[in-house]
Amino acid sequence: MMKVVKFGGSSLASAEQFKKVADIIHADESRRYVVPSAPGKRFPDDTKVTDMLYLCYEQAENGKNFDKQLNDIKERYDEIINGLNLDLSLESEFETIKNQFNAKAGKDYAASRGEYLNGIIMANYLGYEFFDAAEGIFFFEEGNFDAENTNRVLSEKLSSIEKAVIPGFYGSMPQGIIKTFSRGGSDVTGSIVAKAVKADVYENWTDVSGFLVADPRIVKNPAAIDTITYKELRELSYMGAGVLHEDAIFPVRKEGIPINIRNTNAPKDPGTMIVESTCHSPLYIVTGIAGKKGFVSINIEKDMMNAEIGFGRKVLQVFEENGISFEHMPSGIDTMTIFVHQDEFVAKEQKVLAQIHRAVAPDTIELESDLALIAVVGRAMKNNSGVAGNIFTALAKAKINIKMIDQGSSELNIIIGVRNKYFEDAINAIYGVFVTQK
Ligand code: ASP
Repeated sequence: MMKVVKFGGSSLASAEQFKKVADIIHADESRRYVVPSAPGKRFPDDTKVTDMLYLCYEQAENGKNFDKQLNDIKERYDEIINGLNLDLSLESEFETIKNQFNAKAGKDYAASRGEYLNGIIMANYLGYEFFDAAEGIFFFEEGNFDAENTNRVLSEKLSSIEKAVIPGFYGSMPQGIIKTFSRGGSDVTGSIVAKAVKADVYENWTDVSGFLVADPRIVKNPAAIDTITYKELRELSYMGAGVLHEDAIFPVRKEGIPINIRNTNAPKDPGTMIVESTCHSPLYIVTGIAGKKGFVSINIEKDMMNAEIGFGRKVLQVFEENGISFEHMPSGIDTMTIFVHQDEFVAKEQKVLAQIHRAVAPDTIELESDLALIAVVGRAMKNNSGVAGNIFTALAKAKINIKMIDQGSSELNIIIGVRNKYFEDAINAIYGVFVTQK
């Protein structure tokens, strides 16, 4: 058995948290490869070290003095080192960082130092070897992740290290230039490492006990999800269910390595297992409910649209040419509706409308803004009848008008469009019918 364990920023924000992490690692010999984030928030309005680094580098880039900012960052690390009674000094590391900032080494270099330094502390504290991610995680010149080269080099190098700490979030481009993933990217590093070492499980330790059926800011005390498939998760995280970086599933997914989301502050909780496939039947028909606000619908009508070959393509081409991606496209016989993100669309609105007119000469085009989309996701929906019926009844009872319905043929999810102002009520109504009243 071998595990890769990734710890998020809140799990490593202070010496106290580091101690919990070490207890978790020492409790299981198979936790051999550790991927740390940078120190996160110690209390709600604290600042993450990554954000401090971005700000500090901005000063440097503008030619301003950044001694104070850099010193504040150093203090965050010293507090951890002293709290753990380590015989370690980051003095020379900070000297290098200062020089690199003066030499304008780049925003990504700056941000990456958060996990780099935390990795050094973690390795020292655990007695594990420190392995710099720049030596084993690679990006192409234009900035995309180089999965093949990374996997080859990383698996080879890690095969000779029994126990290692590999800082999350970054890697290197040709010529050794440091490049980071997008925010929250240590989750991605953990997944890449799990694939490279052929781990049996990728444990992702954070500050919640896994995924919840609905957002706790919307639904009071929502139930936890014990097992979720990659596909379900993809639908939910696309719709805004946080916890794990969206790209973190790709490296492990095809390898059949499950991800286990765990809580550093409640290590006994089993958390959520994310798996390729399972015969474990879910507790509820609906695995999760998530959604987003801020969509616009563009409803295009034209008599005999159905007979006009190429109509849809011409309309979609307008969106493509304007660099706008569409979310959903339900259609009727003589109508076609396109859902797009409001903030991507507003600035180009009139241009898009004019181009659609020119391209397909519709009878009318109507816009409706401030819409929300809600995804009701569940692998169990496939074999159960009445799911859609229950959703509609729940919404009708709550007096919420449904603006759109879209069910993919995979029957994994049903997407519902409602007005922004009904978003929270709609999620509560749906949750109520599938979970509370079960
Ligand atoms: N420290 C980085 C961030 O704050 C990456 C991570 O924590 O995963 O985005």
